[in-house]
Amino acid sequence: MCYNRNKKSNYLIFQKNERVIHIKKALIIGAGPAGISASLYLARSNKADVTVVFSGKSALEKAEKIENYFGFAQPVSGKELLENGIAGAKRLGVKFVEEEIIGLQLSPDFKYETITPHGSETYDTVLIATGANRTTPKIKGIKEFEGRGISYCAVCDSFFYKGKPVAVIGSGEYALHEAMTLINTASSVTILTNGEEMKTAVPDNIPIIKDKILEISGENKVSRVIFENGESLDTAGVFIAIGTAGSTDLARKIGAETDGNKIFVDKNMSTNLPGLYAAGDCTGGLLQVSKAVADGAAAAMSMISFLK
Ligand SMILES: Cc1cc2nc3c(=O)[nH]c(=O)nc-3n(C[C@H](O)[C@H](O)[C@H](O)COP(=O)(O)OP(=O)(O)OC[C@H]3O[C@@H](n4cnc5c(N)ncnc54)[C@H](O)[C@@H]3O)c2cc1C
Repeated sequence: MCYNRNKKSNYLIFQKNERVIHIKKALIIGAGPAGISASLYLARSNKADVTVVFSGKSALEKAEKIENYFGFAQPVSGKELLENGIAGAKRLGVKFVEEEIIGLQLSPDFKYETITPHGSETYDTVLIATGANRTTPKIKGIKEFEGRGISYCAVCDSFFYKGKPVAVIGSGEYALHEAMTLINTASSVTILTNGEEMKTAVPDNIPIIKDKILEISGENKVSRVIFENGESLDTAGVFIAIGTAGSTDLARKIGAETDGNKIFVDKNMSTNLPGLYAAGDCTGGLLQVSKAVADGAAAAMSMISFLK
């Protein structure tokens, strides 16, 4: 048997007696209980190369003691439970990569392309297991103006701000990505770090304001951002892009249905897009390890059927 890596298709191709077997690629975004549970089933199915990409902490790492999960005579720390899960997945050949997923793109042949600060990769199937959505910053005006000038998705809403000035709140790669999306349609884009240092280089045509924000104000819709130092910035829209892209940010941008801050899935954890699944806290319901693990297993079974 011989094999070679086909650079064009990115697949490992084995040739034996003239037979060519394409090894498919499965991506799991998130190394929490949902993502790791899914990776175990996928790895054992031998249907795909399995990669788990993660950035930031799993909610489980913050749990001091877990005593409502099956199999432990004594309480176990969330950190230990997670480390054991990752070690088990690695033993089965799952690859773990620490990288922020900023966005996903669907190609015409229904392959999924990741957008990361360092490039992109193509996968046959993807599971979003990125946990509960990140919290919205506690700035006066954000909740009041949601849908009236406050947005969480540049790709979805940039059209509404054609030729108008907009601002992006955030200080990382995700904020920059949103700003770069908006710059194509808006008259100007300003990044507001709200007291943080900018963590990535920003092109000169995108000004940065580091002052702390007091409130977002307007009449019926957003018209300005007021800073604690008394200065203000006129803007037609404010895009929230703090930290990493949240679950619904990723889903919405690629066209998967969401329901509030949850990704909408059926009982097999399938989204409305073929080959795209979601599991764990990002799908709502019981926000517990047992449910995340069960979701991950169900999603993996669906992904295995899809790959077949
Ligand atoms: C303080 C605390 C105590 C808890 N106590 C209990 C308890 O006693 N019992 C119990 O059952 N449950 C408890 N929970 C809840 C439990 O931890 C969660 O339900 C569970 O971790 C959800 O798993 P998940 O895989 O869906 O998401 P998470 O565990 O949150 O994992 C999400 C993963 O997604 C990754 N990620 C997110 N965005 C991106 C991105 N853009 N790119 C790449 N990676 C990304 C993160 O790095 C992380 O690896 C507790 C939670 C907290 C916070």
